[in-house]
Amino acid sequence: MPEERLPEEGAVERVSTVVIGAGHAGLAASHFLRERSVDHVVLERGEVANSWRHERWDSLRLLTPSSQARLPGHPYTGPDPDGYMTTSEVVDLIERFAVDSAAPVRTGVQVTSLRRTGVEYDVRTSRGDLRCRTVVIATGACNKPVVPAFSDAVPASIKQLTTFDYRNPEQLADGGVLVVGASATGVQLAAEIRRSGRPVTLSVGEHVRLPRTYRGRDVLWWMDASGLWDERYDELDDLTRARRLPSPQLAGTPERSTLDLNALTDMGVDLVGRWAAIRDGRALFSGGLRNVFSLADLKLQRLLENFDEWARSNGVDADLDPPERFARTRLPQSSRLQLDLEGGEIRTVVWATGYRPDYAWLDVPVVDSKGQLQHDGGVVDSPGLYALGLPVLRRRKSTFIHGIEDDAREVIDHLATYLAGRRLLA
Ligand SMILES: Cc1cc2nc3c(=O)[nH]c(=O)nc-3n(C[C@H](O)[C@H](O)[C@H](O)COP(=O)(O)OP(=O)(O)OC[C@H]3O[C@@H](n4cnc5c(N)ncnc54)[C@H](O)[C@@H]3O)c2cc1C
Repeated sequence: MPEERLPEEGAVERVSTVVIGAGHAGLAASHFLRERSVDHVVLERGEVANSWRHERWDSLRLLTPSSQARLPGHPYTGPDPDGYMTTSEVVDLIERFAVDSAAPVRTGVQVTSLRRTGVEYDVRTSRGDLRCRTVVIATGACNKPVVPAFSDAVPASIKQLTTFDYRNPEQLADGGVLVVGASATGVQLAAEIRRSGRPVTLSVGEHVRLPRTYRGRDVLWWMDASGLWDERYDELDDLTRARRLPSPQLAGTPERSTLDLNALTDMGVDLVGRWAAIRDGRALFSGGLRNVFSLADLKLQRLLENFDEWARSNGVDADLDPPERFARTRLPQSSRLQLDLEGGEIRTVVWATGYRPDYAWLDVPVVDSKGQLQHDGGVVDSPGLYALGLPVLRRRKSTFIHGIEDDAREVIDHLATYLAGRRLLA
């Protein structure tokens, strides 16, 4: 794609808006900025769709069906709306979006500091400085893997990998693997590593159980059609909890099979509770798997009841297969509470314990003690500063590819109004 021209060395460039990050969120911001004729640049430290190129494992496919791989002005028109894209297909999708919307992207430009000076922002980068009135932070919610502090006590004989290091089972030593975390990433990696013939133990905490299909349709079709994904952030009972909800146990495979804990047990994966600590070289797991499983089963049951109710009240019941109910999550025959990390049973630990954003470069006091950006629906607590692409930013669907359009339109609306106000006052 055509590269934006860089300013002359030493000069401070002025522009109305700087967008930081050229993932789908930053590019969607650019799309709406262009629509409103706001001059802007998109600064990207790597390449367009950088996280999909460099921070995902080899076999990953989207867990959202391709029909939901839609971006502003780009509905999915491919041949397989029920399929699940590979990462290279996602890179193509995002690159195409950048080219078609003629986004003014500057790649290889890292923002090293963002500071507020009066009513403007100073943007320091690895390739020159900019000054602007408004900034859109679209640097992603998953910049760093989260690993518990007690990982320091894992014996050196065990190799530890995060999901940023993991690519495929071939890079693992022969022998047992302990996968920690049973959300989308953890269940997918546990299944893949088990299929490679290695014994796998999966440490399971609170999780969201979903079947791949329900009543003949993808379960995420239901989330979309029933309006659940459109629920707004300011209408939720517990926004903090909604923002922390783990990703659902789902995988996008050509067979469209369900990848819940029962499926993993059938594959021979050994389930243990949440990894709580390490003492005397032993991993200690929480008990109470029964409660953890019951809670996930109960929430699934309620969700399916809501779907059924929606289908009835919207007159589509007869077009769908009959309601289904799924077997309860089976408890392991004897769930281990401890595992000797020095006995040689485990050769690798894979931490699938979540991700966090990285705002080390942000010199505006808008990050809370937990490292999260303080914002109200993407309007950050500093005039002219905005965010996109964070969990439940304005809707439940905010971090998903198809969720960006509505959020970006509204956030850029706010930004443009702010700029217009400033111009009128100036
Ligand atoms: C494992 C995994 C699976 C997922 N699966 C799905 C799925 O199936 N379907 C779905 O819809 N969503 C999925 N998501 C969620 C979501 O689509 C992705 O996280 C997506 O990458 C978020 O887009 P983004 O534009 O907000 O952030 P990113 O894609 O992370 O883009 C942020 C960009 O900012 C750049 N950047 C960061 N800091 C700086 C800086 N200081 N200076 C300059 N540039 C910077 C980065 O290099 C990056 O390119 C998944 C996420 C993960 C982690």
